[in-house]
Amino acid sequence: MPEIRNIEKQAMDEKCPVCQKGWMRPTGIVITAEPPQFEHKCTSCSYKQNYYVQYPYVV
Ligand SMILES: [Zn+2]
Repeated sequence: MPEIRNIEKQAMDEKCPVCQKGWMRPTGIVITAEPPQFEHKCTSCSYKQNYYVQYPYVV
C-alpha cells in the first residue's frame, strides 16, 4: 500500500570558481559538440562556464 517515505538525497553541485559564493546554474544553452556542453552561469557574479554535465545532479 502507498506510504510516504523520506528519502535522503545528495546532489553534486558546482560552486563558482571566481567568487566562491554563487552556484553554477544551467542557462538552458547547450553547445552542440561531441560530447555536448551545457552553459552555466553563476548565481552571484554571473560568471559563465561550460560543463559536460548539468549541475546540480543527484548522486
Ligand atoms: Zn561567481
